[in-house]
Amino acid sequence: MISEEEARSRILENVTPLPERTVPLATALNCFSARDVFARVSLPGFDNSAMDGYAVVASSCNKSRRLHVIGEQPAGRDRKLRISGGQAVRIFTGAPLPEGADAIVMQEDVTGEGEEIVVNVDVEPGDFVRRRGCDLAEGQIILARGERIRPATLALLASQGFADVIVGGKATAAIISTGDELVKPGEELQPGQIYDSNSALLSALLQRCGVSATAVEHCRDDRQSLRDAITRGIKNHVLVISGGVSVGQHDLVKEALRELGAKIEIWRVAVKPGKPFLFGNISECFVFGLPGNPVSAFVTFLQFVRPAILRMMGATNLDLPRVPAKLAVGLSNDGERPHYIRGKLEHGMFTPVGRQESHALLSLSQANALLRVGVGQSVNANEIVDIQIWD
Ligand code: AMP
Ligand code: MG
Repeated sequence: MISEEEARSRILENVTPLPERTVPLATALNCFSARDVFARVSLPGFDNSAMDGYAVVASSCNKSRRLHVIGEQPAGRDRKLRISGGQAVRIFTGAPLPEGADAIVMQEDVTGEGEEIVVNVDVEPGDFVRRRGCDLAEGQIILARGERIRPATLALLASQGFADVIVGGKATAAIISTGDELVKPGEELQPGQIYDSNSALLSALLQRCGVSATAVEHCRDDRQSLRDAITRGIKNHVLVISGGVSVGQHDLVKEALRELGAKIEIWRVAVKPGKPFLFGNISECFVFGLPGNPVSAFVTFLQFVRPAILRMMGATNLDLPRVPAKLAVGLSNDGERPHYIRGKLEHGMFTPVGRQESHALLSLSQANALLRVGVGQSVNANEIVDIQIWD
């Protein structure tokens, strides 16, 4: 049995980023940038008005001053107007600032219309003017290599005129849920059977990593069926197998993998829940064998499968988001493996939820965060701890 840290670093040593691709912005959400990207144009690209109103020369605009309106500047085409003291230009949001103007007066702060207006407020230079480059300067970095592309990232790329972006590779994955006791949701249960819930769980966790499973198979605890299912699954970059990796006589996954020529890199990791975790590869496909108990499958996916997939897709930050939180109750771990406690993080407080056994699906569904309690570690109520979150 190896430590969690060793398992994680051995996995990450083995997986390498997939070849990068150029994709249109419309399909780049949640991909990882394969390059540092720099601004091509400054934002705003020219001095412009932040309001509908009048462009003026601030120093000539004492309160109640009457101004002569010499023209109109809408957004979209620079009419190259020019003003001097005592003059104004009717202007609209986003329109280029006329030469000579240094402030905008909101239309609400002006009386009169047409050629003569009276300004009813004090005006300072720079009022409601958006200066060229005040948001972003040309050449500034706007997206770092390995960074996840979010909605606002797409907006920023579009604002620079980029129609596409170079991102990390797209990983494909298949799921096999093993177990003679499993029945597909929607079918009828016989005594002793249970519904397969891991297929739904693992498909969703993969989706959260930006991967939609190409196949989700159920397989009986039978060598030949397993070999056949694995042979189909390894056409993907990643194969996630649930159940059958423990030490029972019906746990045949490891043997089936060996018979197919797999190199088993890791089997059994000191982590609770999740000890029987397996990692290996058959030629180009990385195989993850997760324990069948749903919470174990969940925890080992987040700790070992997720970082591997993110790495393949070109991400640099492979960790779950971490936040400090106050612990609601004291906890200690006198076992021999680090323990991931499921809990609810709410208003800065982490409260363990429900039963902590590895089959306890209801408490998992109510949790949104994990607390890792190391071997021999005790944490008191109200202590600040580091929480991993996934929602
Ligand atoms: P195993 O790892 O195959 O020994 O399974 C451990 C426990 O997880 C057993 O109680 C199984 O019935 C349960 N289990 C295995 N696979 C699934 C699954 N796909 N959905 C729900 N429970 C499962
Ligand atoms: Mg089983």
